[in-house]
Amino acid sequence: MQIFAARSARREIVRIMIPVKGYAARSATSALAPFAFERRELRPKDVLIDILYCGICHSDLHLVRNEWGRSIYPMVPGHEIVGRVIENGKHARRFKKGDVAAVGCFVDSCRKCSNCKDGLQQYCTGGLILTYNSYEKDGKTITRGGYSTRIVVDEDYLLKVPPKLPLEKVAPLLCAGITTYSPLRYWEVGKGHNVAVLGLGGLGHMAVKFASAFGAEVTVLSGSPNKQRDAKRMGASDFVLTRDAEKMQDLSNHFDFTIDTVSAGHDLDSYLALLRTNGVMICVGLPSGEEQLSPFNLVLGRRSIAGSLIGGLPETQEMLNYCGRHNITADVEVIPIQQVNSTYKRILKSDVRYRFVIDLASLK
Ligand code: NAP
Ligand code: ZN
Ligand code: ZN
Repeated sequence: MQIFAARSARREIVRIMIPVKGYAARSATSALAPFAFERRELRPKDVLIDILYCGICHSDLHLVRNEWGRSIYPMVPGHEIVGRVIENGKHARRFKKGDVAAVGCFVDSCRKCSNCKDGLQQYCTGGLILTYNSYEKDGKTITRGGYSTRIVVDEDYLLKVPPKLPLEKVAPLLCAGITTYSPLRYWEVGKGHNVAVLGLGGLGHMAVKFASAFGAEVTVLSGSPNKQRDAKRMGASDFVLTRDAEKMQDLSNHFDFTIDTVSAGHDLDSYLALLRTNGVMICVGLPSGEEQLSPFNLVLGRRSIAGSLIGGLPETQEMLNYCGRHNITADVEVIPIQQVNSTYKRILKSDVRYRFVIDLASLK
């Protein structure tokens, strides 16, 4: 392993940092470009990981473009990470050198609040540390994500990948997978339920795979006619174009659940009207603007609208294990990192089938 060791006059090691190559956005309007930086020295429970693959989530685009108004630059995005363990800190025991390890959307949390204790780290009230665009517990070190060659993570926040699954197809499970698995489990979606998946992108296609694996009847509501055949192959029994007013009208009062994965502003009312009595619209998409809805669409039919954020560590591991047992992975298009900017343009046009994944060998 290459490390820097700077020594003071008294010959003590004062700083050991790990050099890393990455791609970063320098501002909300600049393209991603090569960026060299350093990871922290290994603490006793840290693990150094050689990153193999990193998925591109639409949240990366929102954050790079500062659409949520809290971006920190230079920003190295990426929170769907699969890699191999290169080195363990002196008390890190969960992984051996050469093992596969995965990192999702967060790398630490307060570990003390009731949500952390319940394994719902994603809702930590004491300070969730995101994989990138966050500050570490020192309050000043910026976290940097998986569009890079190596990452250092506390072993408690790493996930194990079941054997035999192709790793490039596993990477998107760390965000798109858990973000859709978690609400489907929370609302106990399964046999006898009609489920609409709104938007067939990274999250949407995983929602289709999980909801149909859990036994629900799945309808994809999409703006892209050329995704119909794929939707059916993934397990959907129906596919409706959102601009087909007649078909949409036919679906009034039809769904028990809608999983809304849309990344841009859209008319919630027209989708709420598709829910039957007691139906729940589960928002996972995070458009930047404010959404409006009419209370009439909730009151008439006792409908509700809810949200869900990724998933905690135990549930993320449960989801990975489920995928191992049922051979569920993402549909991916693997790209070299040098194509990341043109890929972002494709994602903005909904031209995604169904997750882009960066092969980090292209940066080594
Ligand atoms: P994605 O791959 O880009 O997919 C989004 C899909 O939404 C598109 O493929 C498209 O599907 C549809 N869409 C896009 N623009 C639209 C518009 N203007 N009107 C209607 N439909 C539109 O994005 P993703 O990675 O799945 O992420 C989706 C959203 O979830 C993002 O906002 C992201 O930040 C958020 N997210 C939330 C969580 C969470 O924890 N809640 C986690 C990860 C991501 P069709 O072609 O089928 O129309
Ligand atoms: Zn994500
Ligand atoms: Zn906490």
